[in-house]
Amino acid sequence: MSAVPDTIAGRAAAILERIDAAARAAGGGPVRLVAVSKLHPAAAIEAALAAGLTDFGENYAQELEAKRAAITDARVRWHMIGPVQSNKAKRVVGCALVQTLDRPSLLTALDRRAREANVVQAVLVQVNVAGEAGKSGVSPAELPALLDGVAACEALRCAGLMLIPEMGPPEALRRQFRALRRLRDAEAATSRPRVELHELSMGMSDDFELAIAEGATLVRIGTAIFGARAP
Ligand SMILES: *Cc1c(COP(=O)(O)O)cnc(C)c1O
Repeated sequence: MSAVPDTIAGRAAAILERIDAAARAAGGGPVRLVAVSKLHPAAAIEAALAAGLTDFGENYAQELEAKRAAITDARVRWHMIGPVQSNKAKRVVGCALVQTLDRPSLLTALDRRAREANVVQAVLVQVNVAGEAGKSGVSPAELPALLDGVAACEALRCAGLMLIPEMGPPEALRRQFRALRRLRDAEAATSRPRVELHELSMGMSDDFELAIAEGATLVRIGTAIFGARAP
């Protein structure tokens, strides 16, 4: 095995190569890298930008808002990938993609804030494919109603689905990735205004190649690019 490069630019290039190889092996469309910059300073994002990365994922509404204010490079596309409290919806509206729409109350809050800001907000619906209580994401049973909800909101557009899997061995992860893709395929058969389910956001530092093999179009990678996060 080759050594892991010790710069952000070197690690980013190595990850992009692995994404590309996995995407070619899967024979699907292009796969976009979302570099997860949560808890890393603006200087790390600047280094990744200089290395050609443009999509960045943040988990905390306040940190996202602060980084959007600090880094104004027009190439940057911000992704909200953490849970959003409804009273923080205003802080995340205006980013490229809110990946964690997971309940009707957040739908209502995002739609209201997007209308106030006079923007159309792109979202993904986060799904809890196992349907376990206490986990974030809508259950598969609740997914159609939430998509109907997006279809009724003028200021929202749904671009696809997002998954944070339960940890487990590769076969268990593969089952969850496949379950998300099947849900997408099933829901894509229903035509809804403002809903086009082309994106599947799944796969992180340790499992992105498996996710790409199962149809991921967006992978969210933090540690393998930026190194360990401060505790
Ligand atoms: C932190 C985080 C990631 C990145 O995880 P790594 O293991 O550091 O690649 C991806 N997705 C979500 C939702 C996260 O919170």
